[in-house]
Amino acid sequence: MSIFRHFIDLIYPPRCSICEKFLWKNRAKRDQQELLFCEPCFHGFSEITSPLCPICGRPFVSEVDEDHLCENCLRKRPYYDAMRAPYLYEGGIMAAIHQFKYARKSHLANSLGFLLTSFAKKWLDKTDGTLMMPVPLHPRKLRERNFNQSLLLARYAAPLLGTELDFLSLKRIRYTQPQTGLKKDQRRKNVRKAFDLKNPDVVKGRDIILVDDVTTTGNTLNECARVLKKSGAKNVFCVALARTAVG
Ligand SMILES: [Zn+2]
Ligand SMILES: [Zn+2]
Repeated sequence: MSIFRHFIDLIYPPRCSICEKFLWKNRAKRDQQELLFCEPCFHGFSEITSPLCPICGRPFVSEVDEDHLCENCLRKRPYYDAMRAPYLYEGGIMAAIHQFKYARKSHLANSLGFLLTSFAKKWLDKTDGTLMMPVPLHPRKLRERNFNQSLLLARYAAPLLGTELDFLSLKRIRYTQPQTGLKKDQRRKNVRKAFDLKNPDVVKGRDIILVDDVTTTGNTLNECARVLKKSGAKNVFCVALARTAVG
């Protein structure tokens, strides 16, 4: 730890971003990386494990089954090649993502970015040479929130994964309602034609990693993937920090 960091920690002792207890002794640490969570809170994150759908990553309730295609993917293949998230969107990780997004605790980007990066490293065998794109916000939303949470995660992850970061080519051209609270078919319609690719040549023949903070139905990521594939992207892999169990 640098002297400067040590000094700052003495003046503003770091607290767990979930339970707000001081992190003197119980700070969660993984692979040398100190996280802004205490060990008990971090321990409570629900990791997603098999059996799951190999395409959309939806976890199944039964613990004995092997991975198999879910009903949705059997009926209609998504445009993306695969989507995964390390955690279920509930409990501690949900609280942390809320802090990150709505309480503007953007310093959480390091802890959350680290978790996303280590997961993506394990999941995708080869990431060098790929192009990383965060799901863009509409300019109006960006003005309201001041930052794009997915871009902060991607900015942390890209150099560690050896991917090129492009956060300008994919644009959100329609201001959409939040997906939460909408019915299944409304969600699909809501994001339909919401994105546009400014310069299609940048994705031609490339493998793309799309990054989002949370995914529910996967409709937003799928709509981005549709635009990318239409422009000639080779494979599109989606990674989010957390996902809902059903979508
Ligand atoms: Zn805690
Ligand atoms: Zn599926």
